[in-house]
Amino acid sequence: MSESIDTHELDVLVIGAGGAGLSAAISAAERDVSVGVVCKSLLGKAHTVMAEGGIAAALGNVAPADDWKSHFLDTMKGGWGLNDPRMAEIHAKESPERVRTLQEWGALFDRTDDGKISQRPFGGHRYDRLAHVGDRTGLEMIRTLQDKTVAEGIDVYQECTTTHLLLDGDQVAGALGVWRDDGSPILFRSKAVILATGGLGQCYRITSNSWEYTADGHAMALRAGAALVDMAFVQFHPTGMVWPKSVQGTLVTEGVRGEGGILLNSEDERFMFDYVPDAYEGSVAPTVEEADRWVAGDRDARPPPELLTRDVVARAILSEVSAGRGSPHGGVFLDIANQRSTEYIQEKLPAMVHQFRELAEIDITEDPMEVFPTCHYMMGGIRVDPETQETAVPGLYASGEVAGGLHGANRLGGNSLSDLLVFGNRAGHAAGDRAEGMDTFPPIDDEDVTNKLNSLEAPFEREDGTDPYALHAELQTVMEEYVGIMRDDDRLTTGIERLEDLAERAANTATDGSRAYNPGWEKCFAVRHLVEAGLAIAHAARERTESRGAHTRIDYPEPDEELERVEFAISLVGGEIDIAREAVPAPREELREMLQADTGEEETQ
Ligand SMILES: Cc1cc2nc3c(=O)[nH]c(=O)nc-3n(C[C@H](O)[C@H](O)[C@H](O)COP(=O)(O)OP(=O)(O)OC[C@H]3O[C@@H](n4cnc5c(N)ncnc54)[C@H](O)[C@@H]3O)c2cc1C
Repeated sequence: MSESIDTHELDVLVIGAGGAGLSAAISAAERDVSVGVVCKSLLGKAHTVMAEGGIAAALGNVAPADDWKSHFLDTMKGGWGLNDPRMAEIHAKESPERVRTLQEWGALFDRTDDGKISQRPFGGHRYDRLAHVGDRTGLEMIRTLQDKTVAEGIDVYQECTTTHLLLDGDQVAGALGVWRDDGSPILFRSKAVILATGGLGQCYRITSNSWEYTADGHAMALRAGAALVDMAFVQFHPTGMVWPKSVQGTLVTEGVRGEGGILLNSEDERFMFDYVPDAYEGSVAPTVEEADRWVAGDRDARPPPELLTRDVVARAILSEVSAGRGSPHGGVFLDIANQRSTEYIQEKLPAMVHQFRELAEIDITEDPMEVFPTCHYMMGGIRVDPETQETAVPGLYASGEVAGGLHGANRLGGNSLSDLLVFGNRAGHAAGDRAEGMDTFPPIDDEDVTNKLNSLEAPFEREDGTDPYALHAELQTVMEEYVGIMRDDDRLTTGIERLEDLAERAANTATDGSRAYNPGWEKCFAVRHLVEAGLAIAHAARERTESRGAHTRIDYPEPDEELERVEFAISLVGGEIDIAREAVPAPREELREMLQADTGEEETQ
């Protein structure tokens, strides 16, 4: 059977052409192996292109005191200590080198007056740390990585959706998918596969994520035998657009607040000063005057509370709106117009000026924006080995947003782009090493391929199947109502029941028409992945009987010390979800001492 399919042999197959996938492919190609990258849309369209604010790396160009230790500590603090400490260490140590390499490959960063890569402040980072290109950093990153990928002669399979991983026993043997342009199947035989498929924002209705982010990597990994960790932690970015409805959820970069934007309620109050959490008291809570000094460039002052971590700001906005102090379209106001000159805003935030002018007919150099939290990022993901990014499935690697561990309970802005570069690079090297060490391709099981192809074709044959669009809309409503920002046991239990019902219906979807560019057909596989991811989120959230980082339980409003170093790992056992309560790896001695000293300092300040 597999012989009649369009078949490609690639030592290393990378699924996903965002920052993580392209970094991984370039690094794998440094070994003596053949490498190919598959992506659902066109090369250059991945999510990474939308990243605005910047790449976090302790280059120390603007704040010479910055170093990997400070970046490590900020990442751990932002993640409420749940981060895998080794991943946080590697990330902090290797980010500067990866940014410099990107520059060597041609990335043109904004500059300081003395010609170094400029760095801007962002929430939760104690120093100005984000290397950036205006508010179009992701575009420059993808342009550079894409040029390098093409220059290295790496094969790219565009508009090609992978749907299944193929196994030989318990090791990976390749992947199966369909060409989007004619719907014909494609089979990859590979010695190593790297999943770099990005996030799962399409689980929620209000999201900054595009149509491509349907948890494909999470679902494929789970079915292949890998585990998902930290799935309770979905990041709702505090500032998504609320109006017009057609663009609800579109991101308003944290760069606006980094550049001095302030949040106001309908009573013109700068409400964030009322929401500084106890845990931060003394270290972050400044006076308005002090915050103003910080905005004016005095880095000895403390930053404004608008730059508290995203979980804190998102909850504060939600509380203001719930208390009836919202803006006309149900958000709050974000004002930069009265804080910075028109020229400054146009220079530093050109994409935001354009976005609001084109989408909302608002001139942000004159008027405030209306904003409300939007589902933005998945902290959890596939469990990987910190050194190699290998999953529990031999030969299967994961990097970028689809992988878990680095960010713990909450990701700091800018730490995703650096994550992609650092761990994409590591995954590429490890996968390349594995493939180099293998003489032959693992065998493919023809019967398995036939069964998987039949399951792909099934939606065309069902007469009374479920409409995948209606199912997707229902899923988004269920996730928003029962597994949203504010959670409790009743809601989560109802949510799980509803999701289990959706899962049954998702296995029975139907479509019609041709196989060429048929979004209804694609939706049939995507919605299954999304429901599976939704179930993983809901189960992990129900088990986590505390509030920590991005996970807020109304019935358990405080963090629970017992859960401080606990993660819930989700896997499939006999097709059913299994949840294991496990310890987060302990930090090595030097890191532990650094963490203790950092916390101690805060208590005495
Ligand atoms: C609007 C916005 C602004 C952001 N700004 C920042 C920022 O300033 N700084 C920061 O650090 N982070 C930012 N982020 C987060 C960051 O951009 C993402 O987390 C990151 O780009 C994810 O990169 P990735 O390589 O993991 O995946 P992506 O860039 O999401 O790429 C995933 C790739 O996988 C492919 N794919 C998915 N499924 C399949 C499949 N089944 N078959 C084949 N291919 C598949 C897709 O086609 C795509 O090529 C932002 C996110 C958004 C949405």
